[in-house]
Order: sequence, then C-alpha cells, then structure tokens
Amino acid sequence: MSEKYIYDISEGDASMKAILGGKGAGVAEMMRLGVPVPDGFTVTTAACVETMNNDGQWPADLKSQIADGLKRFEKRTGRVLGGKDKPLLVSVRSGAVVSMPGMMDTILNLGISDDTVDAIAAEAGNERFAWDCYRRFIQMYGEVVEGVSSHLYEDALTAMKAAKGVEQDTDLSAEDLRQLVAEFKKISDEALGGSWTTDPVEQLNRAVDAVFRSWGNPRAEVYRKANNISRDLGTAVNVMQMVFGNRGETSATGVCFTRNPSTGDKGLYGEFLVNAQGEDVVAGIRTPRHLSEMEQVLPEAYHELLATMKRLEDHYKDMQDLEFTIENGKLYMLQTRNGKRTAAAALKIASDLVDEGVIDKTEALRRIEPSQLDQLLHPAIDPNHSASPVVKGLPASPGAAVGSIVFDADTAASLGERGEAVVLVRYETTPDDIHGVLQAQGILTAHGGMTSHAAVVARGFGKPCVAGATTIKIDPVAKNLVIGDRTYTEGEVITLNGSTGEVFGEALELIPPRINEDFQRVVTWADEVRTMGVRANADNFDDASKARELGAEGIGLCRTEHMFMAADRLPAVREMILAETPEQRAAALEKILPMQQNDFEGIFTAMKGLPVTVRLLDPPLHEFLPNQLDQALKVQQMELTGADPQSLAAERQTLAQVKKLHELNPMLGTRGCRLAMLYPEIPDMQARAIIRAALAVLEREGETVGVEIMIPLVGLETEITTQRGIVERAVEDELAKAGKHLDYTVGTMIELPRAALVANEIAKHADFFSFGTNDLTQTTLGISRDDAENGFLSHYVMDGVMERNPFESIDIDGVGQVVRIGVEKGRSTNEALKCGVCGEHGGDPDSIEFFQAVGLNYVSCSPFRVPIARFAAAKAAMGE
Ligand code: ADP
Ligand code: MG
Ligand code: MG
Repeated sequence: MSEKYIYDISEGDASMKAILGGKGAGVAEMMRLGVPVPDGFTVTTAACVETMNNDGQWPADLKSQIADGLKRFEKRTGRVLGGKDKPLLVSVRSGAVVSMPGMMDTILNLGISDDTVDAIAAEAGNERFAWDCYRRFIQMYGEVVEGVSSHLYEDALTAMKAAKGVEQDTDLSAEDLRQLVAEFKKISDEALGGSWTTDPVEQLNRAVDAVFRSWGNPRAEVYRKANNISRDLGTAVNVMQMVFGNRGETSATGVCFTRNPSTGDKGLYGEFLVNAQGEDVVAGIRTPRHLSEMEQVLPEAYHELLATMKRLEDHYKDMQDLEFTIENGKLYMLQTRNGKRTAAAALKIASDLVDEGVIDKTEALRRIEPSQLDQLLHPAIDPNHSASPVVKGLPASPGAAVGSIVFDADTAASLGERGEAVVLVRYETTPDDIHGVLQAQGILTAHGGMTSHAAVVARGFGKPCVAGATTIKIDPVAKNLVIGDRTYTEGEVITLNGSTGEVFGEALELIPPRINEDFQRVVTWADEVRTMGVRANADNFDDASKARELGAEGIGLCRTEHMFMAADRLPAVREMILAETPEQRAAALEKILPMQQNDFEGIFTAMKGLPVTVRLLDPPLHEFLPNQLDQALKVQQMELTGADPQSLAAERQTLAQVKKLHELNPMLGTRGCRLAMLYPEIPDMQARAIIRAALAVLEREGETVGVEIMIPLVGLETEITTQRGIVERAVEDELAKAGKHLDYTVGTMIELPRAALVANEIAKHADFFSFGTNDLTQTTLGISRDDAENGFLSHYVMDGVMERNPFESIDIDGVGQVVRIGVEKGRSTNEALKCGVCGEHGGDPDSIEFFQAVGLNYVSCSPFRVPIARFAAAKAAMGE
C-alpha cells in the first residue's frame, strides 16, 4: 500500500502535528474532545514535501486519495461537492507544523457554482447571502489560487457600487450581486486566457496545489530563514465544511484568547462581528465588537463559548488562541492553538498556571523562550501609539530609542555626555564610532545586516538598533537624512523600534522595561534548576553593577584594553612603548599602575563577594600609537614649517616606532600573551594593580572579590609557564609587602585550536580555562569576523552554505568540537580545572545548550543577556 496522504478529521489528534500541521491537529483534537467543529479531512505535510521534491508533481495516487477522502466526507455530511441538491461547501486552509505567516490565504465557500448557488439560496432562505458567498469565492479563488490580480475584481465592484449609487458592499442587492458574479467570471476567464475552471472538484485540487506552492514562495522562505524553521517540514492542507457566520443576525464570527496575550492577565479577550465571515474580523472593514457584548446578542452561544474556552485551556494547560463561528445560534470552533504572547505575558501566564496548580515549575520554565526575554530588558514603545513608520529596516537590536538625529560619532558622544538624547544615523558604523554609539540612545544604519558591526555592538551594549534601512539616504556632510520624500536635518527627533525595525519620524512615548515580580519569581525557578553558573563580561563599575543587578554571579571577562586607551593614559602608554630600556619602561608603567588600580577598585567594589576574571592586556601595541600615514604627514609638515628640532625628533621617533610595530596581519600578530612575552613589565604591573585593588577593597569594604587572573591567547605550554611565573612573583611580592594573604587563581583564555589540542599540557599550569569563542571561531574557521560579516558571510548564510552565522551561535561541529577537546584534555591532567566561556556565545541559548553538554562550569555574557542566560542554562540543564 502506498503512503496515507489523507486523514479524516476524526482520525487525527494533537500528537499528529508533524503530519497534520498545527491547525489540522488542533481541529482533530477538538473533534476528539467532542467540541463542535465542522467535519472534513487533512492532506498531510508529507504530500507537500514530496510534491516539492518532485518539481511540483503530486505523488501518484494523491489525486485518487483526495477523491476517496472527499467521498467519505460527502457521505458523512449527506452532501455533495458541486451537487445540485444538497451542495457541500468547504474551506481550504494551509496549516504548517509551526504557525507561519506568509502562507496561502484561506479559500472560503469552495463548492459554490452556477449549479449549486440556487440550492444554497433556497436552503438558507436567503438569495442575497448565496450570491454574496459566490462573488466572494470567485474573488478569493481567482486571486489566491489562479493569480488573477485583485484590482480587476475591486474595480468591477467599485463600478457596480457607483452604478447602483451605493456606498457599502452590504447595500448591494441579490440581483446586483448576481450581475457582479457574471462580471467576475468574465474577468477571471479573460485574465486566464480561457483556462478558468468552474468545476468544484477541479477547483479543490488546484487549491490544494496552491497551498503546496505557497510553502515555497519567497515570503515563506524569508520567514523560515528568520525563524530557523526547516523547509523540509512542509505544510498540510485542511479541507473543512463551511459554517456561516453571515447568515443573519443570529450568526457571527470571532477570535478570542483565553488570557490576555500582551499582559497575561486573566479576563475576557476577544472580538466578534454579527453577520460576518471569518476574514471580515481581520480585514478591518467593519470594526469588531468586544467579546463581552456577545452576552447580550447571542447569550446561549456566548456561554457555550466561555465554557469551551475554559475546557480547551484546561486540556492544553496553556493559553489558547481560538477562532469560532456561530451559525444560526450554533457555536462551531474553527481553530485552537497555544497563543503567541509577549515576554511579559509569557512570564505572567507561566507563573499564574503554577499557582493554579495546572503546571509545575519545570513545565513553566519549559514554556519560556529565553531569547524572547530580551524584550523585557529595554524601554519599549507604548503599544497604544497610532503613528505609522516612515521606513522599516532590520530589527538588529531590540528596544526603543527616541532622540535627535546626529550624523557622526563625535557629536553623538559630546551631546550624549551632556545628557541629550540622540540617535546616531550612519551609513554603517566602524569601531571608531564606539564612543558615539555608547552615548546614543540608538543607532540607525542604511547598510549592514543583523550581524553588522552596529548591530553586534548595539546588542552588546543593550542599545536599540535598526540596521540596513537601505532606502534611506544619508548625507553626513550636509547633515541631512532623506526618508521617502521628507528630508530630516540634524537635531530633528525620530524614534526607532529595534524590536521590529520600524523608524518613526517623530517622538513616541516610551514605557520603562518591565522586570516585574513575575520575572523575578520565574527566574529564581530557573536558578534552582540550572547547574552552570552565569557571569557577565564587564569592564567598569557601571556595567558590573548592572550585571549584578541582573543576577550575574561574577565577572567572566574583564578586559583591560580600555584602561590603556583612555586619553589621560595614552601619553604614559606611549612613553612605555617608546622606552629603550626595561627601566624606562617600568618607570612609564609605574605611572599607569595607579590608574589601573583605580579602575579595578571600582569593579571589585561592585562585585565584592563574587569572582572576577581579569584578562591581562590583549591587543597589539600599534593600537596605542597614531596611524602611520597621519604620523608621516605630521613629520613632513613639521619639516616643511621648520618646527623646533626637539619636538621634530620626538615625532620622528614615534614614526619610526609606528613603522617598526606595523604588522601585515595584526589579528595573527603580536597579540595576547605574545606581547607580554616581549614586555614582561606589562603583566607584572597589571598583576600588582589587581592585587593592590583587591586589598584596598578588602580593607575598605570588609570583603573583596575572588581574584582570577587570566592570560590571553596562549598556544604553547612555555607561554603559560612563563606568564604564570611573572604573575605569581608579582602577586606574592605585593602580598608580602602588604603583609596580607589573599586567595587567587591564574588561568588562561583558550582562543587557539593548538591550545585546545595541547590542553592537557596547558592545564597543568592553569586553574581555569575560559573559552574565548569569538577568537576561537576566527582561528578555527580561519576567517576574520569583520571581513566576513561585511563580506561573504551573509551570502553564505543566505545561500545555505552555512546554516547560521558562527559568531552568533556556536558552530557545534567545528568550533564546538575544539571546545570539547579542550575541556576533555584539560581535565585529563587537571581534574579540578574550571571551564567557562566568555564572548557573545555565552548569551546565546542554542550555544548555552551545547556548553551544558560539554560540561562547562559557567557561561559569561554581556550584562543585558544575563537573565536570558539564566533561563537558557536552566533549559539546558532540563535537557531541552
Ligand atoms: P489563518 O491561519 O490565516 O488564521 P484560517 O484558515 O484559520 O487562516 O482562517 C481564515 C478565516 O477563515 C478565519 O477567520 C476562519 O475562522 C475562517 N474559516 C476557515 N475555515 C472556515 C470554515 N470551514 N467555515 C467558516 N469559516 C472558516
Ligand atoms: Mg486562523
Ligand atoms: Mg581574544
């Protein structure tokens, strides 16, 4: 026997989502429960997949299986599709496994034709109703299945209304509609060059095929890509008997939720329309009424609906999103599914259901989508606004920003520092814009995608960002921005919605983030379940405090670069670089030490009682020196203008150093501990600053942090032994001088494949490993992130060469295996080795699941992702 492609609705149940689709399984489950639903059958997702894989050819016996299914259906209902006597009318609905916008629109009233329209009119005792169904059907079927352009029908309808001197469709008489149907048929046949069919069975087959095709349309492809939905799932097709909400004043149609999907509150949430068919509610032609008013209009159906809502919610143990139709006072349910909800509602509903004894805490956690919680951590646009966006880009970093437009980072930084709200508008951002990004409320770029620099940086800082708004025109010189036909000048206020990509040409009202009671409560359940620690990456007091407030259990990565970059330190740093003897260098470092100590004291105060991993200096020295070309020009200028010999000599020396330190490929150059191998005075100074800060905080606050000193970019055993030696000598010396004792550990960052491969050697000298998965991804894949993201990577992801951007979610098969090897080999020689991850992957739920599987002790991510990581780690521990 060949595969079964057709299931009667009564044959299915909720567990059969994969083959019947979400809608099909939902309807079947309702029928099984005895909830009134119209009868029908479902064409399986497998039929769709096979058709797709076979260039659009149906499986051999699909057509005959549909014919058989239809025959059974006709027998059960006592009606015949296209029958002159008791005609059967059906709807044809698409229904994928996961509910998906962009699929084919539903066809209603299929089965109405010249042969059946009179019988339908007679049965309903309403001729106008029958002709109205007929004209709606031709329009829907013509547009959706046959691709007739909709304005042809609209024009004919408008012309008819004008001819009859009426405003509303509802004012047209049965006779008018009969004429309109004749007109519509002519239009359709002409548009299709004579291939228009009037046979309902043929129409049914074509409608099923159109649903299959809609699975492959570009809209659907884009949606699947954005939501990681596999193309192989296919969509099912549901064929159901029509029920009519448009049979008069005792008929109605509506949509309802068993709880409020934006707040999670209990209470009646829904809308209905009397004398209307399904699409009227959504289309907005008539304004629907609040569900509570139905009690007056249709009391019996109303109370049955309420009971059914409760029953379905109890059955699914979750908030349901329902569609219903009332035909002559009788209630039918047309759809049930777990309702989509905001993050705030998700937390409230989960928390309430636990209180109601419906689900337990574990199940509540299972219901929370960690990545969705992002919504809660940023100010949001008041949902009750009525503005429409002037342009839409990519939703690159969630949250809302209101501010006046500025076109360069310096202006953004200086205005922002003064407390003014600005939005930085750039063609694209570069690392040079960081200071502006930091001070801006949000970022709008014309170029770049979700992984562009602006997007990555914005997410890291929790700044809203709309990227890739390709149609806007920016003129940074004239300082204006053109969106559509309007020109905005610097200082005009706009609003960004980084959660949707919308840009508004005015200031919208913002509401504060809602880390509310529900959040606090549910996240503590997550903390009870998870086994991995969650830390944050933070380099200063503010970030560290924020991280702690959001539940970080320590700092997994404190970078020290910016402690060298700040304007007040650069002179001393340059002095150090230009030093000719170790003594001169040590003297320069002596000046930097107290400043670093001061920075560390801030962070340690914020984190007292918790561990802090401080990474010693990482980037190459040339980053602290001027750009080579600029410096050469400067020297030339001085030579020409006859500057005083002493300063000229100094500038020449700088130029010589810049040239000497120039590297062809700095990413693979004198970075990380390689720098410390050449200049041991640097780790020595840093270790001392760390210890002095820790002791000062201990003295002042009565407690201090767990000091963890991390050596960057180790690849050789000799590197770690040397560096550990330097650090230990400095620390012991400081402690001895202070006459104090302090526990501390020394570990390394694993960022090179070699380090993972020889982890058994390295681990002998390390107390901990922290996987720097950003660099590890670059070094394992051999790609530079900036070049890749501005270049081939988006094509790779778009064309499916790579499934996902490996910098967003860890490449499990490659980089993931390097991590696994590193952990296993490391622990083979050092059982107590603590392993963690720092870098953006530490805040990505899918990556976190993998890190749990390889046995990491903690993840560390940007402060704003800490709550997400707490939930994701809980789900990972639960084996989700
Ligand atoms: P969507 O996935 O876009 O919600 P649906 O197929 O659920 O598509 O529905 C489109 C509209 O058609 C809904 O309002 C639904 O209630 C209505 N509808 C679908 N099938 C029937 C039917 N058999 N009888 C009456 N209305 C129907
Ligand atoms: Mg629906
Ligand atoms: Mg690194």
